[in-house]
Amino acid sequence: MRFLKVDRTNTAIRKYGWIFAFVVAFGGLWVPRLGLLLIPMMLALGIMGFFRGKYWCGNFCPHGSLFDGVIMPLGRNVPLPGVFKSRLVIWGAFAVFMLGLASRLAPVISDWGALGSWDRLGYVFVFNYLVVTVVGSILGLTINSRAWCAICPMGTFQTVAHGIGSRLGANDGTDLKVYASDTEACRECGKCAMVCPMQLSPYEGWTEEGWFEGERCIKCGICTEHCPFAVIELVAAGDADEGEEKPLERAG
Ligand code: SF4
Ligand code: SF4
Repeated sequence: MRFLKVDRTNTAIRKYGWIFAFVVAFGGLWVPRLGLLLIPMMLALGIMGFFRGKYWCGNFCPHGSLFDGVIMPLGRNVPLPGVFKSRLVIWGAFAVFMLGLASRLAPVISDWGALGSWDRLGYVFVFNYLVVTVVGSILGLTINSRAWCAICPMGTFQTVAHGIGSRLGANDGTDLKVYASDTEACRECGKCAMVCPMQLSPYEGWTEEGWFEGERCIKCGICTEHCPFAVIELVAAGDADEGEEKPLERAG
């Protein structure tokens, strides 16, 4: 499969969000309290994940903007190595991240009230953000722009939140998915797969009802924008033409 670099910065947040990532990751070394901004952000992505899966990653994440807008034009765009799709690696990265965060937070919380507590708390988050900025950029330059996103612990966090939402039946009407009302109209040109930042193949993973439900989909809509035959769209499950219940098989 040949992957294409296409413009993904079609909203202001996608285009300029990387400035926030830079300011917090590097500016936070001098002004650690900038890291406190990341606490409501993590909360927001958890809530969004509950209702829409990885929608945050494709539409609001400042690192996503960095990878798509700044790194992609400079980096390679080769297939993601299989190890980045391994559940063991994905959940291992999540566990390492969470344990690291907890171990750095514990002394700050136990000493709370000491001089500089807010700075120390902020620095815990700045450190994590800086690591993601550096490691994600290196992976973006050497593999493909969104390679980090395949294993990002915050992406996994959203998957967990989404799983809980699904079990509770809370996201049936809010979840966005790639959908083809007429799969017969698909010419199997593969363009949707070539432009997908996550290197997914919607056209190879339809359910019988025309849904693509790849767990790794970040709901960015880039595939729908570039389908030459306007076969696919990104819709809330309840808004699709065929409406009704959709017993989805896992695909992709
Ligand atoms: S880009 Fe459109 S027509 Fe081409 S394979 Fe994908 S869904 Fe089918
Ligand atoms: S399948 Fe489409 S919406 Fe999902 S990540 Fe790929 S390009 Fe974005």
